[in-house]
Amino acid sequence: MESTNTGYTMSCIMCGEVNDEKETSTYCTSCGGVLQIEYNEISEKIQYPLKEILPDPLKNHPTALKRLDRLSEKYDADLYAKLEFENPTGCFKDRGSYIEVQKAMELGADAICLASTGNMAASVAAYACYFKIPCFVFVPEKTPEVKLAQATIYDATILKIKGDFRTCEALVREFAKSGNYYLAGDYVFRQEGQKSCAYEMYEQGITDFDYIFVPIGAGTNFAAIYKAYREMKAAGQIDKIPSFVAVQPEQSSPVVEGIFKKEKIIKEQVNTMADAVAVGNPFDFYKVLDCIEQTDGMAFTATENELLESMREMTIEQGYFTEPACAIPLATFKNNLETFKGKKCLFVLTGTGLKSAHIVAKYSLSSPVLPPDLGRVQQYIDSGFVEMQKNSWGQSRDNAVSGLKMDEAHSKLFEQYVSEFNKKGKVLKEEEIRVLRSLVYNEDVDLVYPVDVVDYKLTMRKQGLVSAAVKLRIKGQDEDVISLDQGVGPMDAVLTAIKAETDSIIPLEIKNHEVEILSPDTESLVVVTLTLEKDGHTFTSKGASPDTLDALIQAFLKGLAIANKALAV
Ligand SMILES: *Cc1c(COP(=O)(O)O)cnc(C)c1O
Ligand SMILES: [Zn+2]
Repeated sequence: MESTNTGYTMSCIMCGEVNDEKETSTYCTSCGGVLQIEYNEISEKIQYPLKEILPDPLKNHPTALKRLDRLSEKYDADLYAKLEFENPTGCFKDRGSYIEVQKAMELGADAICLASTGNMAASVAAYACYFKIPCFVFVPEKTPEVKLAQATIYDATILKIKGDFRTCEALVREFAKSGNYYLAGDYVFRQEGQKSCAYEMYEQGITDFDYIFVPIGAGTNFAAIYKAYREMKAAGQIDKIPSFVAVQPEQSSPVVEGIFKKEKIIKEQVNTMADAVAVGNPFDFYKVLDCIEQTDGMAFTATENELLESMREMTIEQGYFTEPACAIPLATFKNNLETFKGKKCLFVLTGTGLKSAHIVAKYSLSSPVLPPDLGRVQQYIDSGFVEMQKNSWGQSRDNAVSGLKMDEAHSKLFEQYVSEFNKKGKVLKEEEIRVLRSLVYNEDVDLVYPVDVVDYKLTMRKQGLVSAAVKLRIKGQDEDVISLDQGVGPMDAVLTAIKAETDSIIPLEIKNHEVEILSPDTESLVVVTLTLEKDGHTFTSKGASPDTLDALIQAFLKGLAIANKALAV
């Protein structure tokens, strides 16, 4: 049901110029516009722009096309889902990577490079790995760990870049020019691969939807599915092309805004829990706009809370646990029930929820650790906490916890934090207050600190080395001690200097550290979470400050206090 083909032209959708794939596979060489492939002949088979094609080494079956019976009944519509999370790496992008990687090999590239919000990295890495071509992926620093883990195990070289997807994209374009590298991404050959989603539905016997909802980042998948429909119509396989519905998170919606303004909009910064569609510069915007105009389509956004709600609803009602991006179709459908009443709608569920466990953890209350005692288990089940835990979904955990009443000791601790921040000239934003309240709420107010840091100084050395001088006050000693040490960065240097003194009290091993910066500005609250270990016991501690180093020191000293208390019992 597929054919390879060299009878095609690649032309620019903006200026019409025919481009040569040996010169570019990304942007038009005369105007920088986006390219499109047109085949010389019409075919009933899916056509791929390759001289020859190898069987897909990773994919074993088409992804399921399922009717959503319960949701259809609940909302009085005829709803379907294409389960694109069933692709080999858990995301539709595999369809494109399969073709793109083979194109890179056909063109004789030495390596493949790309920028990614995570899923593309995992997907291209998987195919590049199988076809044995080196792969360099540029990802924003905030990329979820699981997506990075996939790219890592598939042997890609990971370049984690300070900044967002746009920053990575600009950098990788430079990188691609520095060698004989194929720049993969949301470009024309990927689009040809991603068409197979719609061809698969044709084989599965259902294509006659009234509406197709596609969550949009760059717009490439949307454009690919539309292109497949056009090709199938031209070949006489179908008579009608559905109306396409472009959907995005409200907090990252340049495409939806652009559709209303009829011109491309670029956002400097986008921030949504649906990280897979957090794309500020939507590459295929004009293809999306054209489709919306041609198919009498629509465009909608949904809020972050609506995403959470729909993500859970899809899981509970139909059993499909997807990532937040895939909740946008259901969320926007629900916001427009009158429009879609009785209509046959398809939701493209683009990626698996298994890579988004961090979202679930973040937006639900975690369960407390209970002693192995049946009475206590029973007591907990009856305690009302469980109800609160289930109801807390849809608002952030920090929100739920910050709504809880604090006792006097915790309120006092909270005020101490705030006054420390005020001294540093920091005024907390609403979101930061929530996070801080949640942090304080979970803090043990009876902690005794065996060590305090009175002051510290840093000196930069050559080759990234840093010297730290830390003044420590150790409980039970009359005089402060000054500890001097070096490290490969400020954080490393300070911790090494502190540990040089404290290891003789309690030697703690640092198993993991996470730095969370709450907003992009320099004044932001920073939360450092440390995972510490001693003799098989693990301790987690958090520090919060506008200053990363202060937050780190706080977290470590708190960790010492926690460990000290736990191990003394
Ligand atoms: C990449 C991605 C999208 C967006 O697709 P575009 O082709 O960039 O519009 C949507 N959902 C998931 C899960 C993705 O990985
Ligand atoms: Zn052009």
